[in-house]
Amino acid sequence: MCGRIVVNGRVWEGAGLCRWVDEVLMLPLQAVAERLGARRRWIAYPRHLEVEKDGKVMALEIGAANARLQSEEIPLDFPVYLDQGLIMVPVSLLGRFFGLSWTYVKDVDAAILSRAEPALADKRVVLDPGHGGDDPGVISGCLVESELTWDVAHRLSGLLILAGAVVTSTREEHETASPFQRVMVVEKAKPDVVISIHMNSFLCPAHNGLETYWYNSWPARHLAEYVHRGILEEIDMPDRGVRESAFCILRHSPAASILIKLGFVTGDSDRVILKDKWMRERAALGIFRGIRDFVEAFAGAM
Ligand SMILES: [Zn+2]
Repeated sequence: MCGRIVVNGRVWEGAGLCRWVDEVLMLPLQAVAERLGARRRWIAYPRHLEVEKDGKVMALEIGAANARLQSEEIPLDFPVYLDQGLIMVPVSLLGRFFGLSWTYVKDVDAAILSRAEPALADKRVVLDPGHGGDDPGVISGCLVESELTWDVAHRLSGLLILAGAVVTSTREEHETASPFQRVMVVEKAKPDVVISIHMNSFLCPAHNGLETYWYNSWPARHLAEYVHRGILEEIDMPDRGVRESAFCILRHSPAASILIKLGFVTGDSDRVILKDKWMRERAALGIFRGIRDFVEAFAGAM
């Protein structure tokens, strides 16, 4: 399998895919080095090269069983190799050199690498996937709101945990949770941020688009704006705006809390997006960056 690459919350759009070789995940060095501003030079083309970042040096030899980090020899899970000009390197080595955690999201065939985000370290985030269990939310054809909200929250949870946040969910996958139970989870977790996820519905399929809600708090309004923008950078949905409304979960959360209506399950163009796993992963990436950038900007005020 050859798949997509995400580094620090952004999809790598340049050349190269990740690739499994003998159960080792290999990534093109270029994708990570360029995204992270590392320098790379051949010492003896096409065999020996060095990568430099913040004064640290990694020496690689094509085909060798080891690499050198500073003066330390590191055994490799699989030798570095060249593939059509791309230098394929085991993900574990990249993680170690660049200080990245990584995971592989199988259903969208994507390698996700993330630094430990200083702003997110130990920040508490409550995710509130709307509906669930006995309450499916809106059903339209094959789309069930409770399944979609869980899916996006689950993807988002993976991204947040990888970056160092502490994540709590108001429900499990097939659990029914009342508004009261959800508010209790929020009260107990004492979160910095609450993200509630729902979808919209309407009789007319021409209604499509993203709405993000906040209530009665400036931090929440800023969070809504960051997250709304993040999602629209990732998926092509009409912008229905950042709005204020007194949803139950927002009224009862002292933290910066927002409710996202991630498109219309009844909308002709939104349905195409919501049906697509990769688009849901990208929506989660947009929410992730919105949270991260908000916390970074307002860390002192939290
Ligand atoms: Zn809903």
